Amino acid sequence: MDTDYLVVGAGAMGMAFTDALIDHADVHVTLLDRRPAPGGHWQDAYPFVQLHQASRFYGVASTPLGSGSIQQEGPEAGLHERAHRAEILAYYDDALRRRFLGSGRVTFLAGHEHRIDSTGHIATSPTGEEVRVRVRRRVVDAAYLAPSIPATTPPPFAVTPGAHVVTINELARLDGDPTAYVFVGSGKTATDGIVWLLRNGVDPDGIVWIRPRDPWMLNRAVVQPDPAVAIGLAADTMAAAADAASLDDLFLRLETAGVMLRIDPQVAPSMAKAPTLATWELDLLRTVEHVVRMGRIRHVTAEAVVLDKGEVPLPPGAVVVHCAASGLQHPPMVPIWGPDVIRLQTIRAGFPCFCAALAGYVEATRDDDRERNRVCPANAYGNTLTEWARMQARGAVAARTYGAEPDIAAWANGCELNPARIDPSRRADPEVVAATTRLQAHAEAGLARLTQLADGREVVN
Ligand SMILES: Cc1cc2nc3c(=O)[nH]c(=O)nc-3n(C[C@H](O)[C@H](O)[C@H](O)COP(=O)(O)OP(=O)(O)OC[C@H]3O[C@@H](n4cnc5c(N)ncnc54)[C@H](O)[C@@H]3O)c2cc1C
Repeated sequence: MDTDYLVVGAGAMGMAFTDALIDHADVHVTLLDRRPAPGGHWQDAYPFVQLHQASRFYGVASTPLGSGSIQQEGPEAGLHERAHRAEILAYYDDALRRRFLGSGRVTFLAGHEHRIDSTGHIATSPTGEEVRVRVRRRVVDAAYLAPSIPATTPPPFAVTPGAHVVTINELARLDGDPTAYVFVGSGKTATDGIVWLLRNGVDPDGIVWIRPRDPWMLNRAVVQPDPAVAIGLAADTMAAAADAASLDDLFLRLETAGVMLRIDPQVAPSMAKAPTLATWELDLLRTVEHVVRMGRIRHVTAEAVVLDKGEVPLPPGAVVVHCAASGLQHPPMVPIWGPDVIRLQTIRAGFPCFCAALAGYVEATRDDDRERNRVCPANAYGNTLTEWARMQARGAVAARTYGAEPDIAAWANGCELNPARIDPSRRADPEVVAATTRLQAHAEAGLARLTQLADGREVVN
């Protein structure tokens, strides 16, 4: 088959790129995925998963996900809605069917594996049939940042026969009543599983949390689709950075400002993937007192979890919950527009859907790859504190660069996936003006210090 663009991966990034591309260029796209439907990792996510950020920041630019409403009840009342798995999958299915296939300009190869051989691009169907795809314009790698999740990633430790190890996906359908839940993992997945159990009445003393590293997490209340809040977050980040003597000091200042959260105030976190967490979730997580910090797990037997620096005995009937997949990926940062392929990566800090849509818009509206890479330099996710600072510094510079292009600035300000967007009706809002003024006051000093911290330089005042 012939096509203008071959997009490999129909997850959030492939969908957002394709949507923006066909909106601004009269081209044909072949989108393929080894999974049977669009939505990427959400297809295999645990049943009680939700977006960790507001629905408004997720999906494709042309079609909002959700109704944009603010939660009226429950522990998160006052914060924007966050879609559950079923809503996300229905949204992507609808976007594919109505918008992509309905346009007549997109072909979707479901359940097809992509590979390249000496003759070119090949998509292999579930029955083994091979389709040769001749690509007139570009190949797009929309799986470069595909996250690794427990459902599709084996535990990073040995499991001896007889040991009861399950993935978080199985939590909701366990037979019987485990005598103890032993969670393995420091990140968002483990926090989701523990919060879900505690909300369902499990006693915190029945939970053991093996947490080799402690994480910094973003307070969900400051990551909201409201320009006063979003610009306020940028202002707080730059103000904290401007005065920070070290990376630890930066995060402590952000904690004081209500931006960053950590589970144990006595422990200095070394992990900064920084998913969002609500304060009600933090309160629940702090009720789990049996936390194990004895390094990484070597193996799990029916009787014990064996770690680098000790063992955790397992009572009969205990279940070990594997939440130890690495989640966000950190492959080498490369130019998005490469000689052979467009490799979708983030551009501003975080917000992969907005970044992929931005890349789709820039692909459609510019002719020269050097110029495209100039206006959209690649960024990466944070993992360590240093990487988080680098992500912020690179993201701030990138946002200035693409924001200086009038057409991109106009498109980005109309795109609801963009957290920095200011709706024209809010421009004169005193809260927005105050946040913008504060950001302007701290931006230069904050960016300069973030750059130093990202380069590993402690700062002498
Ligand atoms: C639990 C969880 C919650 C999250 N919540 C949020 C949130 O609220 N907001 C936010 O902005 N981000 C969130 N993220 C992060 C964000 O969802 C992900 O980074 C993003 O969705 C990843 O999309 P992707 O397209 O890069 O990867 P994926 O969703 O993994 O999609 C990549 C696709 O490529 C396909 N593929 C790969 N190689 C091939 C091949 N050779 N042939 C065929 N197909 C191939 C895969 O099958 C996959 O479907 C969350 C992540 C997780 C794990």
